[in-house]
Amino acid sequence: MKKAFLLTVFLLMICLLAVSACKSVVPPINDSSSLQTNLGTGDNNADIPSVCNHTFGEWNTVKKASCKDEGKRERACTQCNETEVEAIEKSAVHTPTIDASFPATCKTYGLTEGSHCSVCDEVLVKQTVIPRLEHTVIIDEAVTATCTNIGLTEGSHCSACKSILIKQVELPMLAHTFVDGICHCGAKPELLMQLSDDGSYYTVSGIGTYIDTVVIIPNTYKNKPVKAIGGSAFNGNQSITHIVLGSQITEIGPWAFYQCANLTGVTTSSIGSWCNIRFENSYSNPLFYGKNLYVGDTLVTDLIIPDEIKSINDFSFERCTSIKTASLGENVEKIGSNAFHSCTELSDIKLNDKLQIISDYAFFNCSKLTTDLYFADTLTEIGECAFANVSSLPSVYFGSSLKSIGYAAFRNCVKLESLIIPITTELIGKYAFQNCSNVDSVMFQAPSGWKCSHSSYPTSNMGEEALSYPSGAAEFLTDAYADREWTHIS
Ligand SMILES: [Zn+2]
Ligand SMILES: [Zn+2]
Ligand SMILES: [Zn+2]
Ligand SMILES: [Zn+2]
Repeated sequence: MKKAFLLTVFLLMICLLAVSACKSVVPPINDSSSLQTNLGTGDNNADIPSVCNHTFGEWNTVKKASCKDEGKRERACTQCNETEVEAIEKSAVHTPTIDASFPATCKTYGLTEGSHCSVCDEVLVKQTVIPRLEHTVIIDEAVTATCTNIGLTEGSHCSACKSILIKQVELPMLAHTFVDGICHCGAKPELLMQLSDDGSYYTVSGIGTYIDTVVIIPNTYKNKPVKAIGGSAFNGNQSITHIVLGSQITEIGPWAFYQCANLTGVTTSSIGSWCNIRFENSYSNPLFYGKNLYVGDTLVTDLIIPDEIKSINDFSFERCTSIKTASLGENVEKIGSNAFHSCTELSDIKLNDKLQIISDYAFFNCSKLTTDLYFADTLTEIGECAFANVSSLPSVYFGSSLKSIGYAAFRNCVKLESLIIPITTELIGKYAFQNCSNVDSVMFQAPSGWKCSHSSYPTSNMGEEALSYPSGAAEFLTDAYADREWTHIS
């Protein structure tokens, strides 16, 4: 059995060798120097001789060679269908494409014409760089600044490419030179004016070309009213000595006259128009430095607030020292904050019977005020420090409606001797009567229900018994509990 099997295997191998005799080792296709032969399809194997001497036909190009890739051709044996494949060498012929030249300018370099093969991308003629050209410099001449036109420094540009080589810098306009009130250009000194957003009026926004030390604010400018002086308009101006306000001014912005330390007077057209001005802060009011208020040519010493005025605006007469007496019009209901602050020559004030509110610092530091103050029965509020440091104030009657006396309202009123706190009063601020050292009698019309509080101490209920004695109450209010806020709960 084993012998028979080995014999069968041997015979089979002989047969296989005979069948493959026509077949040689196939070389790799990319080896262009070697030939390649293929065995025909198995179907015809029965009809062909086991060994063929091959008779090949014409070469047939399968793929053309180019400058980038090899080609391929093949031929077939007429006897056995065996085929030979052969590589065709790369072509040396490129397909040139022009790379266009472009000229150099004064803004960029140029390139010469070149070429490359559009098939293999090989550069055939290299492009070379042509250097950038020089600019064609044109001088832009300097312009001298005048009082009507801005100037320019010398500059330059290139006439070919229009590039600016040296930028011209603007030189500011020169100031006018006024001789006998007029400049050679025809200009006259003028304040800086700014038209309002709605175009209806002008605001003085600065000194402008004005050179006179007496500043006159006109009533109108370019046919429109001049209604306001802007914030900081004259801030820091040490030259102006006097200001004359137009009758249309109703508003003066913050810091408008700050540090105008050489002001010695302020003129208004009337007390009524002065009372219509809203001052934004203490330095909005030229009286802060000017001190002396004039109506026309007359220095105001006896101020009479007209009857049409309902409210004396904040800061209105602050630091005005020309005023010696003041009389409220019959319709004044409110005295604004700081309204008579530091009117240190004011010795007499005539109140009315409609006053409701005296605001913070209204008469602060009016140290010569010696009027007995009889407040109207309409008065409800006396603000913070309203009469503080009014060291000559002899007496004050609070009326019958007063609700609150502000923080330090009468502090340092050392001439006050007696007080009556109305039944309506609900609040007496901290330090309201501190250092009122001559007060020896305080009559509380409602002695019960008072509490004292201080941030550092617990609230104390003031005994009705204690506050019923004017001398004891005086001591509490001006001394022992002077640093506390007093509240009354009815
Ligand atoms: Zn053949
Ligand atoms: Zn090529
Ligand atoms: Zn140029
Ligand atoms: Zn000029």
